[in-house]
Amino acid sequence: MGKFPGIGTTIFSVMSKMAEDHGAINLSQGFPDFDGPAELMARLSWHVNNGHNQYAPLAGVPALQEQIAKKVSRLYHCEVDPARQVVVTPGATEALYCAITACVHPGDEVIVFDPSYDTYAPCVRLNGGVTRHIPTQYPDFAIDWQRVAGEISDRTRLIILNSPNNPSGKVWSEDDIHQLRRVIEGRDIQLISDEVYEHITFDGRAHLGLLRFPDLAARAYCISSFGKTYSVTGWRVGYCVAPEELISEMLKIHQFINFSTNAPMQYALADYLRDYPDKLLELSNFYNTKRNIFCKLLDKTRFNFVPSEGTYFQLADYSGLSDEPDREFAARLTREHKVAAIPVSVFYQEPPGQRIVRFCFAKNDDTLHEAARRLAAIR
Ligand code: PMP
Ligand code: GLN
Repeated sequence: MGKFPGIGTTIFSVMSKMAEDHGAINLSQGFPDFDGPAELMARLSWHVNNGHNQYAPLAGVPALQEQIAKKVSRLYHCEVDPARQVVVTPGATEALYCAITACVHPGDEVIVFDPSYDTYAPCVRLNGGVTRHIPTQYPDFAIDWQRVAGEISDRTRLIILNSPNNPSGKVWSEDDIHQLRRVIEGRDIQLISDEVYEHITFDGRAHLGLLRFPDLAARAYCISSFGKTYSVTGWRVGYCVAPEELISEMLKIHQFINFSTNAPMQYALADYLRDYPDKLLELSNFYNTKRNIFCKLLDKTRFNFVPSEGTYFQLADYSGLSDEPDREFAARLTREHKVAAIPVSVFYQEPPGQRIVRFCFAKNDDTLHEAARRLAAIR
């Protein structure tokens, strides 16, 4: 018997493969169908052609660590030591695995909010921990903080947050931060804040990164991804900012998984952040426009939806179209209507039985128009 029965292949691989097999427009796995900035691509080829092709240092290329520290100082007024409080990782995925492994001992409990990104629970389990899932539901995805307080015990070691949330798009409010502070007060609980969509919030909403709050940042691993920010998911570069004690624990794991992260990509990203520090501030507007276009197109279909608050995902309720469970519906949508989406039940320990799929709108407008034309034709 395998060591981890019950851990299957991630839904993102499953649906992207299905999209390819059936020649469907792939609005399932979250990645753009356009390239990142041309200047960034140019810096990568420059570094590849100018000898930056050997191992990067364990925690990252110093020039990139410095740019990350500058960015968090500018955006969140948080001063960190670039050499000791920043680790560059092969994607946010590796940062999540290392951070979870660094804090979870066998038997420890970890609170996650469902719908939760599909990496969290398996990583906790691989470390012998136990996840306690707090459900939130379509359409508002509000957190029941009383329930959270009731779940916390002396065994609770970690809470994993993700705002803006994948898949719901929910963005945390000041009140959520306040409630979080209240429930962990006086307890030895660490935080992992998955902020890979930190630069994608809509309708003027602010991203409340934990680095803004010194008392919370003092116990948090804050994780982000250049793949999301600069449309280069295949480059596999993310990072984690945390107090020195937490980073040094995390490095003990990182050194034996990847040792270090792709060198030329790090040099290119460091140059780009230095030369275009404000570029990432344009991302919210860019995706807000795409969300508006996609929602307007969805209005002509029989899907129901509430516009997403952040991320590049839009949920849609298909109960007006079908009674099928969401995995079956998503498979049929891909096979018969040639549009792939993600069934949202996979993000729940106990799916609430809603009829919801997730569409990724990080696509060229032509792609969105053609996908919506196909969705509108479903009767
Ligand atoms: N966290 C969330 C919420 C995500 O949606 C993703 C995927 N994009 C990741 C982490 C992993 O990011 P990366 O591609 O940088 O590993
Ligand atoms: N985070 C992306 C999504 O939600 C997928 C990343 C992956 O496939 N590992 O679709």
